[in-house]
Amino acid sequence: MRKSIATVSVSGTLTEKLEAIAAAGFDGVEIFENDLLACPLPPERIRALAADLGLSIDMYQPFRDFEAMPTLDLRRAERKFRLMERLGADLLLVCSNVSPQAIDDDELAAEQLRLLAERAADHGIRIAYEALAWGRHVNEYLHAWRIVRMADHPDLGTCLDSFHILSRGSDPIGIEAIPGEKIFFLQLADAPLLAMDVLQWSRHYRCFPGQGNFDLAGLVASVLETGYAGPLSLEVFNDHFRQADTGRTARDGMRSLIALEADLHGVAHPVVPAGFAFAELADTGSLGGLLGALGFARTGRHATKPVELWAQGGARLLLNATGADPALIAIGLDSPDPAGAAKHAESLLSPVLPRERAPKEARLEAVAAPDGTEIFFCDDAWLGDFSPSEPVAGTITGIDHVALTQPWHHFDEAALFYRSVLGLRPQESLELPDPYGLLRSKAMSTQDGRVRMVLNLAQVGAADIPWQHVALACDDVIGMARRLRAERPESLLPIPDNYYDDLEARHEVDPELRHLGVLYDRDEHGEFLHLYTVTVGRVFFEIVQRTGGYQGYGAVNAPIRLAAQHAGGHH
Ligand code: MG
Ligand code: MG
Repeated sequence: MRKSIATVSVSGTLTEKLEAIAAAGFDGVEIFENDLLACPLPPERIRALAADLGLSIDMYQPFRDFEAMPTLDLRRAERKFRLMERLGADLLLVCSNVSPQAIDDDELAAEQLRLLAERAADHGIRIAYEALAWGRHVNEYLHAWRIVRMADHPDLGTCLDSFHILSRGSDPIGIEAIPGEKIFFLQLADAPLLAMDVLQWSRHYRCFPGQGNFDLAGLVASVLETGYAGPLSLEVFNDHFRQADTGRTARDGMRSLIALEADLHGVAHPVVPAGFAFAELADTGSLGGLLGALGFARTGRHATKPVELWAQGGARLLLNATGADPALIAIGLDSPDPAGAAKHAESLLSPVLPRERAPKEARLEAVAAPDGTEIFFCDDAWLGDFSPSEPVAGTITGIDHVALTQPWHHFDEAALFYRSVLGLRPQESLELPDPYGLLRSKAMSTQDGRVRMVLNLAQVGAADIPWQHVALACDDVIGMARRLRAERPESLLPIPDNYYDDLEARHEVDPELRHLGVLYDRDEHGEFLHLYTVTVGRVFFEIVQRTGGYQGYGAVNAPIRLAAQHAGGHH
């Protein structure tokens, strides 16, 4: 299908927007009026620029507060039609009236819209009428459609907007009763589920399909049932997107439509990873001691690179002497089809990383995640590059999850990446208090829970904490804590007594947790014991023990952890 985007969805000047939108591969644009008003170029030059870039101007928008008024005003419309002729746009979006003067009278609305469409037709222009979710009298898409049907003019149709439909909880199945040729345009936006005023929700929190909680594929399937043949067009108002890099946001929008289309056609399913193969950390020699205390042993060295393999049970950590401070730089995922996984990632516009390798070394497929973390798709061949490589038994059994701090403005992009490229499903989304701000956090996992990731974003005001962590699954967190307390107490993040006073008030827990610095949580499935090491460079480790099918990540304890880290649990 043709793919469009409203210029309001990305940052920059109109010229910058058009160039970025074209570079991302879109076929067309909706020109948002404010972008045009602020542009120094005359409409003819904008038209020529779009044409040079290969973009069609699919719609001009919005035209507000027109219908169902006490007096008909075609003068304002006439001026817009002349502008649109200069711009080469032949579809005008009219959104439902929000003016206090508007009259609750469908026949009047239909009559005035019919007169508008007649006048538009003289200019070769058509009108698409859209129900705003907060329209004064018309705020349901089927209500707008009834008015369009009543007006009965060939140049008047309706514009469907997924946000206005789904934010009100309307059932999109009703779309199937609208003739496809009367749906003049389809605008797509997703959004997180939020309990707030719908106007504020729309103006600040819309996001690209797949980044929120709406069932966009279901809605689009209903639209396609009607025979609608127009573009899929993104119309997103988002505070982060307004500030983020123009080209990057445009590419992310394109990724969302590619993923949505694949969803619709039931093709190009992600190759879902089967587990963590490894986590790779930059190291300057300071991590080995800590890993040794956690029961890891160095079990191999890379044949040609300055990389060591440290292993315990099913947990494998690569320490890469890059010369940079300790940080999580790459994640290896066990993949049933590494080449297919990389190809799928590439189809979703993920940068595939070139791998320099020596003869006989395993070929590794890798792509860059939005935060720059390298994601490797692995079969077992990579282990052959490390010799010798003997597993070491211990209480740590594998990698439970990795937590990645996302770059400012790119949180939604990351969520879409992990969802569309790796097939992870979004789980809980939280906002956690930090001593100096707020931390936004979103957990994602494969259906079987074998690959779990937590994406974190430091909000405005939060101290910059570009820390990542690797959480290691352990059979005996208490035993691990006892050993660390005895042999390497400085590596444990200290937890305040006040936490334990409260914990013991809420739950009957082993009093030894307080002495050991072990944190506790429970949900309806089971219990969670976890501890944190101090931060080394930009990374720390969490040791976790899930019992009885506990699903969470101990998020209730994260504010305690953040405060303890600020207090200086840092090496
Ligand atoms: Mg809209
Ligand atoms: Mg964690």
